[in-house]
Amino acid sequence: SALVRLENVSRHYDTLSGRVTAVDDVSLEVEEGEILGVIGYSGAGKSTLVRLINALELPSSGRVIVGDDELTALPERELRRVRGQIGMIFQQFNLFHSRTVAGNVAYPLRVAGVGAAERDRRVAELLDFVGLLDKAHAHPEQLSGGQKQRVGIARALATQPRLLLADEATSALDPETTADVLALLKRVNREFGLTIVVITHEMEAIRAIADRVAVMDSGRVVEHGDVYDVFANP
Ligand code: ADP
Ligand code: ADP
Repeated sequence: SALVRLENVSRHYDTLSGRVTAVDDVSLEVEEGEILGVIGYSGAGKSTLVRLINALELPSSGRVIVGDDELTALPERELRRVRGQIGMIFQQFNLFHSRTVAGNVAYPLRVAGVGAAERDRRVAELLDFVGLLDKAHAHPEQLSGGQKQRVGIARALATQPRLLLADEATSALDPETTADVLALLKRVNREFGLTIVVITHEMEAIRAIADRVAVMDSGRVVEHGDVYDVFANP
């Protein structure tokens, strides 16, 4: 069944030079347990799609449904609850540089009010999972790009989200490190059954881990289906 459903979703922006349609009549489902790739060139509407799914923005028209929640129908307090069910990882990692690796992973647990003992246990477990237990007390600037993204993944998993959104998560990494990070995301998907949406302009990333792919162009989904089928029919 679908964890996320977009029904005829459009998002316009009114700018000084006129109306921009960032997302144009998109209908799309993210199935429970799958890795969906969303690929497209810069300006295709991918980031807007991410902000619509994680409830940072509402559509101009259409419906966005996450789990049982129709986002346009929810008050702000409920939107915050939905955001809490979605983990995010980013191109620039977005780590707190003043905090240690453990402190970064502990942060969302602290915000969620998880007590110190439970927090420490979860942080250790997560750092072990991403292979960075020995870096718990290091600061982000002491880490390689790939290690930083592994911290980002551990932090995103800390609150046990239902959905992980990876927004150009490997775009700042070299090919070898990209492969490691993608393999880790695949493990997250396999071992926890976590649903993942990978947003990228890199076809190789999609080929490497996605089950299905949606191709965006000028705000529209121009093609979607199994990765093999979509990429086999240019
Ligand atoms: P992508 O992530 O694929 O690069 P975006 O979703 O960032 O695409 O942008 C899609 C289009 O919408 C672009 O033309 C962009 O300039 C425009 N856009 C995105 N956000 C805004 C905004 N807040 N205000 C005005 N235009 C925007
Ligand atoms: P800061 O937020 O200032 O970076 P710390 O990194 O010292 O603070 O600690 C943040 C959280 O991570 C605390 O709950 C701390 O107990 C926990 N923590 C620190 N080191 C470890 C570790 N090696 N394994 C698991 N948890 C740790």
